[in-house]
Amino acid sequence: MKTIIEPFKIKMVEPIRFTTVEERREILERAHFNPFLIHAEDVLIDLLTDSGTAAMSAAQWGAMMVADESYACSRSFFKFEKAVRDITGLGFIIPTHQGRAAERILFEIVGGEGKVIPSNNHFDTTRANIEYSRAEAIDLVIEEGKDPAALHPFKGNLDTAKLAALIREIGPDRIPLGMLTVTNNTGGGQPVSMQNIREVSELLHSFEVPFFLDACRFAENAYFIKLREPGFADKAPIEIAREMFSYCDGATMSGKKDGICNIGGFLAMNDSSMAEKARNLLILAEGFPTYGGMAARDMEALAVGLMEALDERYLEYRIASIDYFARRIREGGVKIVEPPGGHALYLDARAFLPHVPPSQYPGQALACALYETGGVRGVEIGGVMFGKQAEDGSGEALPPMDLVRLAMPRRVYTQSHVDYLAEVVLETYARREEIKGFEIAYQAPLLRHFTAKFRPAKEESR
Ligand SMILES: *Cc1c(COP(=O)(O)O)cnc(C)c1O
Repeated sequence: MKTIIEPFKIKMVEPIRFTTVEERREILERAHFNPFLIHAEDVLIDLLTDSGTAAMSAAQWGAMMVADESYACSRSFFKFEKAVRDITGLGFIIPTHQGRAAERILFEIVGGEGKVIPSNNHFDTTRANIEYSRAEAIDLVIEEGKDPAALHPFKGNLDTAKLAALIREIGPDRIPLGMLTVTNNTGGGQPVSMQNIREVSELLHSFEVPFFLDACRFAENAYFIKLREPGFADKAPIEIAREMFSYCDGATMSGKKDGICNIGGFLAMNDSSMAEKARNLLILAEGFPTYGGMAARDMEALAVGLMEALDERYLEYRIASIDYFARRIREGGVKIVEPPGGHALYLDARAFLPHVPPSQYPGQALACALYETGGVRGVEIGGVMFGKQAEDGSGEALPPMDLVRLAMPRRVYTQSHVDYLAEVVLETYARREEIKGFEIAYQAPLLRHFTAKFRPAKEESR
């Protein structure tokens, strides 16, 4: 077998800025040891997120130039609607400025006090929008999905026995819809099998509960089904995606993920009365139903991007490059969440830095160390992001894991960038004993990880 190469050539380049270790130490100090506060210009390889960071194609830029920016019933909307319908088969397509706007509208319609929305794992904006409506968001991912070392081909699957028990316990009337997130972002970008999608759909429908997909990474999920699920090896990703959507009654989507766009999204469904309510809310907060929250040029880019995301060569390269990165650092002894997901690698910071106690935020320490070593920016997913100060002042409740997520922007980096990334991780691993923990010098009351300031932890508090 030949090397899997980037299935594109590069027409436009953007320089990245090199800095010295000394400069990066100063930059880290100025950023109060919080990678979110480092200026992007000072980052060599930016793996903070795969959201909105993709490189668009010549075809997408070309489509943007011929967009029709008419206020009502623009040609670009119908092109966008046709592409979404071709993949999803859903009847009503409502453009939104990004995924969370679709969620906000959906849960304003179906949420509210006493309602319960089950999913494998709700993404944080989904959960926040459900809870904002005063409904309850419940995660029912399979047990393997909670164990970073467990090997399972579809760790994003939902536990259908738990779902059946929940429906029996509270009754279907309190469940306005059930969801699956594909791939399961919160669970590490892990895929959901076609069998699980079908079973969840059948179970919900047997109680007349509608089924929605959070479809942000539907194309990556389709490709994992092709690779791992018997019976799909010879199917094209678009056929697999169409089958995935055939089981659902609606979907929310962020175009910033598998839309390969920098902004955009949609809400789609089959129920006409729900669509009417959604359009009324859309007009209130986003825009007229044929553009919602998007410029026509963005709808054009999304129409093209959704199809490009299903290109088999592209998906092969994307999944292979993350797998290659995982293999290189695993061979060097670094522990990651296994198996690697579709859009990111997650380093196990507690295994990487066993001498840094969870109370000193090993994920934060590792994220800063990776930047210091090689100008690479990842994000802490652990004590800083999820830790909560106990109300009685007895200290801090910490989550079970401290991870550093290295998310791969789509079509942005090449194999030599990945080689460099592996070298940075392994060089950091070689000097791990000198890496120290942090304490928080400042924190905001909510979502503290974005703006927190840190200082090196005092030795004696170890
Ligand atoms: C990013 C994301 C969202 C929200 O989309 P935005 O475009 O960031 O608002 C929802 N669900 C999942 C699984 C996501 O990854």
